[in-house]
Amino acid sequence: MDIHVHTFQMKHDMTSVADKTNLLDLDREGLRAFFADIGEKPYRADQVMKWMYHRLEDDFEAMTDLGKSLRAKLAETAFVGPPKTLLDKTSSDGTRKWLLAMDSSLGKPQAGGNAVETVYIPEPSRGTLCVSSQVGCALNCTFCSTATQGFNRNLSCAEIIGQVWVAAKHLGNVTHQQRRITNVVMMGMGEPLANFDNVVRAMHLMRDDLGFGLASKRVTLSTAGMVPMIDKLGEVADVSLAVSLHAPNDELRTQLVPLNRKYAIHELLDACARYAARRPRTTITFEYTLMQGINDSPLLAKQLVKLMRRLPAKVNLIPFNPFPGTQYQRSDEDTIRAFQKILLDAGVQAMVRRTRGDDIDAACGQLKGQVLDRTRRNAQFRRRVEMQERAHAA
Ligand code: SAH
Repeated sequence: MDIHVHTFQMKHDMTSVADKTNLLDLDREGLRAFFADIGEKPYRADQVMKWMYHRLEDDFEAMTDLGKSLRAKLAETAFVGPPKTLLDKTSSDGTRKWLLAMDSSLGKPQAGGNAVETVYIPEPSRGTLCVSSQVGCALNCTFCSTATQGFNRNLSCAEIIGQVWVAAKHLGNVTHQQRRITNVVMMGMGEPLANFDNVVRAMHLMRDDLGFGLASKRVTLSTAGMVPMIDKLGEVADVSLAVSLHAPNDELRTQLVPLNRKYAIHELLDACARYAARRPRTTITFEYTLMQGINDSPLLAKQLVKLMRRLPAKVNLIPFNPFPGTQYQRSDEDTIRAFQKILLDAGVQAMVRRTRGDDIDAACGQLKGQVLDRTRRNAQFRRRVEMQERAHAA
């Protein structure tokens, strides 16, 4: 494992930057409106987007086809402010994780401030970036490490697309040519549909040809099941949908994903069917984290088959990834295989998502970042973890 600590570049002066626009907050439409506001032609927005997203340029002075006076005007009114990198870790399997400072886009990273994690998973045929949408998470799924951190706030569009920007920069990604990031999944910290507008705008930038230019099937939003927002997403965005199911009946799912109390499984699947109906060739991915003795029995696999039959679905089985203080354990290999076989034999597509990056706590459900919890709801849990850790250390 390899860790670098990055020093900060104090690029922007706090006093003057406070009322400037971070251009990473604007999608193509917004950027064109911004250029109209400062008395420039809309095509200038397109030029600047190419600099920002194809060449990963954050310095207006380097945007040489813009003309001196426009560059000066931009420097007065705007900046390109991606999050700052606090930590950069590489796993023995090549997975890479960055801890990125939020609350820092004004150029002044706050020591001990909020930070989120972004993970890059290289595979022979693709490179997937796993992006966070919130500082912490408010949903309290019982098997997820992020939940134990509490919730602070939504990330801005700049902080979401900025994660792709920073990762692309670290990886030497070149949009449309040498792509290291071929897929983006909104599967990091947070519930993306609870931060709808910023997430949608950031996904527009991932998809836009003048942005990162990724096809709709290569940008995936994963949700714990916010039903009304799934319908809204279907109306405004063209991306793939993944749903964190984890249990095939309401009693068990409510224990694991408390949001199920609000939107029961049949309502959730109805919303998925409506989402799929808008996109003739789409498949919806259902994530199912396998926990020993909790949700991994053959009976539950059979119940899951029945649910999946009515949809263009595939099931992604995720062996549970442990974290300090958790009450759950990963299902053993034979149980995982048996569960998968029941699905496959019934004609349901099912794959096992192999654990990557767990030596740097970068696997699914292990992201915790740095959350200044404003809710204090999880204090009891944290006390329990601390006690366990102290007992362990003693
Ligand atoms: N809130 C969104 C995005 C988080 S995605 C959602 O719920 O879909 C992260 C995925 O990893 C989800 O499917 C989540 O349920 C799963 N996950 C969470 N904790 C996990 C753990 N400890 N082990 C394995 N998978 C986990």
